[in-house]
Amino acid sequence: MKNLSNRKRDKRKDDTKGDHAFVENFFLNGIPDDIKLLKNVFNSIPDIIGIQDLDHKILYYNQAGYDYFKKRPEDLTDIHCFELIGRTETCDDCAAKIVKETGEPSRITRHSLKHNKWLDIRAYPVFDDNGKIQKIIEHIRDVTEDKKRENDLKNAMERAEESDRLKDSFLENISHEIRTPLNAIIGFSDLIISENPKHTKIAKYIEYIRNSGLGLMQMVNDIIDYSMLESGQLHPDTTSCDVNDLLQELYIIFKDEIERQHKEIELFLTIDKTTEHLVIETDPSRLRQIMWNFLQNAVNFTSRGYIRFGYKRTRSNHILFYVEDTGIGIHSKDLGLIFEKFYTVSSAESNAFKGSGIGLALVKQLAAVLNGKVFVESTPARGSTFYLNIPAIINHPEKSHSDRPVKPMPKYNWENKHILIAEDEELNYLFLQEVLSVTKVKLTWARNGLEAVEFCRDHPGETDLVLMDLKMPQMDGYEATSCIRKIDKEIPVVAQTAYSFSSNKNKSLQSGFSDFLTKPIPARLLLETLNKHLIIK
Ligand code: ADP
Repeated sequence: MKNLSNRKRDKRKDDTKGDHAFVENFFLNGIPDDIKLLKNVFNSIPDIIGIQDLDHKILYYNQAGYDYFKKRPEDLTDIHCFELIGRTETCDDCAAKIVKETGEPSRITRHSLKHNKWLDIRAYPVFDDNGKIQKIIEHIRDVTEDKKRENDLKNAMERAEESDRLKDSFLENISHEIRTPLNAIIGFSDLIISENPKHTKIAKYIEYIRNSGLGLMQMVNDIIDYSMLESGQLHPDTTSCDVNDLLQELYIIFKDEIERQHKEIELFLTIDKTTEHLVIETDPSRLRQIMWNFLQNAVNFTSRGYIRFGYKRTRSNHILFYVEDTGIGIHSKDLGLIFEKFYTVSSAESNAFKGSGIGLALVKQLAAVLNGKVFVESTPARGSTFYLNIPAIINHPEKSHSDRPVKPMPKYNWENKHILIAEDEELNYLFLQEVLSVTKVKLTWARNGLEAVEFCRDHPGETDLVLMDLKMPQMDGYEATSCIRKIDKEIPVVAQTAYSFSSNKNKSLQSGFSDFLTKPIPARLLLETLNKHLIIK
């Protein structure tokens, strides 16, 4: 019985009948004059075509081969192919050798040191009538340019990835560096406002400082979020969201905002009266950000009349949020463009509020993150309505987690408790100290992660909770927390950071933190969060 490789050979022998048999005969029996044409064909091929015997002696090269090795046909009598590249024996990865050993065609790509070229070498067996390999055909292509392009592309890709990484870490750092002083400005302004300063001028100035700080913070967040969206890194943090609560909170904030700007605008919130709590599954912070943007624009571009916002439940299990205003409106030629990045309408009325043109572009992409869409209807000089349509998986109302509006500031007594605060920025520590002072809690200040770990190690069982900044010199909050966890598995560690990236939230919850607070931390949220963990403990 013939084995498999013999059968393959027989098959190949059959294939060489007809045109192929003619070519084979041509190679085996020399080059008859009347087929000069064929010789010309071979010589016109820019790749090297060669024939060698089983000892690797060269029998034939086309012109490209002679040119490559800078030899004439008569120079190559009795010469082995490896001698052409200055060797005394075959190369380790010789394609012809593999053909000889396996009876199969082979292919290798190799760098020729002598010629400093990359070569793609293919070798094919030529069988005699008995299926024995008689000669080997080599096809050699100079792929130096392809290799160079491939390398250039790889290098360019690596550079692009590196620059992307640098850009992201630059953005993270710059965001941190800008947000840290802003947090202090906003946090301390809030504290002064909560003291109800008697001097009306001072109260007004402090409001200006706070609002400018908030505006700047919004801008930084928009730019960072936009850049994260562009690089596909922003993913929704889906959770239960009480829509009525969220809109109610926005109502309070923007009612204040309109009063502060002394605008003759009435603000209306229209919510679904049939459900006291409409709880849906979505990313509440992104939903809030979109509605915030719509409302901020509505306030900016409206001088008098009203702003009405709310939502309608649609039949297709979607919720249609809207913000309607009686402002300057948008010309039809601009309507299709305002959701494009950096687009700002240029007109006498709108120029008064010129912004970065990022807001609505960000909103459009955030809507996509929530699997929704945004659109607008507008009439110049009459007003605009901006819409956000998102799919709504509706939860049972019992899942609603809050019954705001606005509870009084909680009063806690933590006289017997001890909190360790790891924070490298003195102003941030002073802010936390100020907010927590009403609780009479005992505080210890660690200026970096290492100090926090050392304190826990040297004073086991003395601390009830650790409030841990994430970005600190010497040892960051992630590492410090994992060290503290080895000392005390139970102690609640609450992360606090100036980063706004939601991936940080996920990362820190996965890294063993009990909770996560983003700066500027509102005083109420700080107290409520810490109380939750101090009670459990
Ligand atoms: P910006 O940050 O400049 O406000 P946006 O992307 O939020 O950028 O808005 C783009 C443009 O759309 C604005 O410059 C403004 O001309 C127009 N626009 C947005 N909202 C409204 C609105 N409610 N009424 C009138 N024009 C608006």
